[in-house]
Amino acid sequence: MSEQIGLAVIGAGVVGCAVAWEAASAGQEVLVLETNPGVSQGENQSSRNSGVIHSGIYYDQETRPLKAAFCVQGNALLYEFCRKYEVPALACGKLVVAVDEDQSAVLEKYQQRARLNGVPVSLVSGAQAREMEPRVRCLAALHLPSAGVVDAAALVYKLYSLASNQGAQFMTRTQLVGARPRPEGLELTIRYRDGATDSFLCQRMVNCAGLYSDEVARLVDPASPHQVEPLRSEAVKFYRNKRPELGLKGMNVYPTPTVVHSARGSHFSVGVHLTPTLEPGPGGETVFGPVVTIGPLGHAAGHKEDYGGDYPPMEQFHQKVAPFFPGLKVEDLEPYQVGIQARLLDEPDWVMEFSPADSRCLNLVGIDSPGLTGSLALAKRAKKMLLGD
Ligand SMILES: Cc1cc2nc3c(=O)[nH]c(=O)nc-3n(C[C@H](O)[C@H](O)[C@H](O)COP(=O)(O)OP(=O)(O)OC[C@H]3O[C@@H](n4cnc5c(N)ncnc54)[C@H](O)[C@@H]3O)c2cc1C
Repeated sequence: MSEQIGLAVIGAGVVGCAVAWEAASAGQEVLVLETNPGVSQGENQSSRNSGVIHSGIYYDQETRPLKAAFCVQGNALLYEFCRKYEVPALACGKLVVAVDEDQSAVLEKYQQRARLNGVPVSLVSGAQAREMEPRVRCLAALHLPSAGVVDAAALVYKLYSLASNQGAQFMTRTQLVGARPRPEGLELTIRYRDGATDSFLCQRMVNCAGLYSDEVARLVDPASPHQVEPLRSEAVKFYRNKRPELGLKGMNVYPTPTVVHSARGSHFSVGVHLTPTLEPGPGGETVFGPVVTIGPLGHAAGHKEDYGGDYPPMEQFHQKVAPFFPGLKVEDLEPYQVGIQARLLDEPDWVMEFSPADSRCLNLVGIDSPGLTGSLALAKRAKKMLLGD
């Protein structure tokens, strides 16, 4: 390969596909490189997440300005996109519940933050929460009507199709292994699945490499300081049609958020929550499916591909949700999925910046949750940074 291409996008998760669509729609020549065997095939964050469309209450504007802004913008863009392109999604709302006085005080703080972030929110009593989800027990709850659920795989595939239709090329089974600044462009070296390598020049690149975004940033700038500290989490599921007496209406139900302390430092956690899944209804419309997921139970991953190994005992998941969802039994639960997030070490926000070593490379590093929700807003911003308005 010897020609020079316009824009190389590294990674075909939800963010890379959205960036490719935006850039190709603006007339850019786009080549997407993806290590996995196909888009929506293989492991990445976009294929193993909770599928929640967050409303944007968790992120303060001082320490997490990008998450705060892009979650709220992305929420609205995502609903509009899903309506227009028939991607399954439901605005089912969310309850964030407090089971004691201390947690109720924390909820008030998040209510304030929601208002600052422009998120529709109301603080409701335990009785009002039960009108929405009859078997949920709490003293008080935040009701967030703009939260929802999306079929993440369908979203990624739709973005990929739209980008392809606009002329973006996707090379799968192809890993970026080198990126060297040259006066005439960035010289990218790629490795195919069979081990063969190839090099070509590009005018610009966007790093959307998820768990490997720190390493891709270092290909261009060996001094790049950002470090992804992979966060593994397991989720379980139960079939609500086997337990109709639980009377679930299909909302997201979250506990009061906490800060988790570990040997590697402290991180914020949204907590182990109940999330509905989707299925096609009788008329093809999207409805609440039979599976309800519970997770994530997070802890440091051994490495970035640490998907195997033992599952925590079901009791651990049960203990987390029993205070606010007491009707559930341990026997109802079974393993669902293991996911790994690209959490940044000692940096609470996402990084979105041109590489200090070469401004032809735009880095999106550490795009952990709520990156699914924020994907379309991130892509719009990336296009603006690369091409202007
Ligand atoms: C357990 C879990 C639950 C989550 N829940 C939610 C949620 O409910 N709501 C929400 O909004 N967000 C959630 N998230 C976060 C969300 O899934 C991510 O923020 C989002 O998917 C990030 O997308 P991405 O495209 O940046 O990264 P990824 O989906 O990880 O894609 C990156 C891609 O880059 C490729 N790649 C890496 N290195 C190279 C290379 N050198 N060459 C070529 N290709 C490369 C990888 O193979 C991968 O396909 C969750 C994440 C996890 C793990």
